[in-house]
Amino acid sequence: MLKVNGNGLLIVVSGPSGAGKDTICKNLVDITDNTWISISMTSRSPRNGEVEGKDYFFVTREEFEEKIEEEKFLEYAMYNNNYYGTPKDKIEDYLNSGIDVILVIDIQGAINIKKLIPSALFIFIMPPDMKTLKQRLIGRKTETKEKVIERFQTAYNEINHLKKYNYVVVNDEVDNAVSKVQAIIKAEKCRVDRIEEIHLDNKEEIIHEILMDNDFNNDEMRI
Ligand code: ADP
Ligand code: 5GP
Repeated sequence: MLKVNGNGLLIVVSGPSGAGKDTICKNLVDITDNTWISISMTSRSPRNGEVEGKDYFFVTREEFEEKIEEEKFLEYAMYNNNYYGTPKDKIEDYLNSGIDVILVIDIQGAINIKKLIPSALFIFIMPPDMKTLKQRLIGRKTETKEKVIERFQTAYNEINHLKKYNYVVVNDEVDNAVSKVQAIIKAEKCRVDRIEEIHLDNKEEIIHEILMDNDFNNDEMRI
């Protein structure tokens, strides 16, 4: 009856470093069909345990700049002195084949995507409070003290942009936050602006069927 736009949703997820964006998105794709997390390219060094092609495509600054020249990115930004970018290839194919694509990117990237693709869904992940953010960033054991401070300073600036997003999810418990993100995506798919056509059966035909219904007994009606 309703023909709805069957393209996948482009979902942009941002939030301060350590808020839990990766944790939430990875948990979400584990329990959700037809959802893919885009793998970014970066000039930062891999952390312990990070896998090339799974967490990021790791390149040198020069290689990254070559890709910029070749227009290989949908968007890119400099975050704490390193390049990060979303490779263009694959995204359009996934979206056209009905697969939702998640971009876990910073605020500058989100602002650029908003200009390019205004229909994308923008979700901001917040920590329950800033002391918890500090504990999570330190607890992850991926950053030096200087880098933690740098990221913490960036975090305060990032939170100023919160209202540019459509939704905010406070990451208190992972399962709770994941189910909120899932609910937001479900709701987004029910938006009336995704409807392309409305096809209704002929009204006169249905009224005629009611009139001709010999089993219909008005006497059974009770008030
Ligand atoms: P981000 O991708 O936003 O930088 P991560 O997903 O890497 O953040 O999470 C930062 C750290 O906090 C990780 O060590 C992760 O395991 C932990 N973490 C994430 N969400 C929660 C949560 N709800 N409760 C406790 N720890 C969490
Ligand atoms: P991290 O070094 O913690 O992996 O990422 C640092 C920041 O860069 C995070 O806010 C992360 O979301 C963001 N980021 C990761 N990939 C991209 C990308 O492709 N584009 C942009 N603009 N930001 C990205």
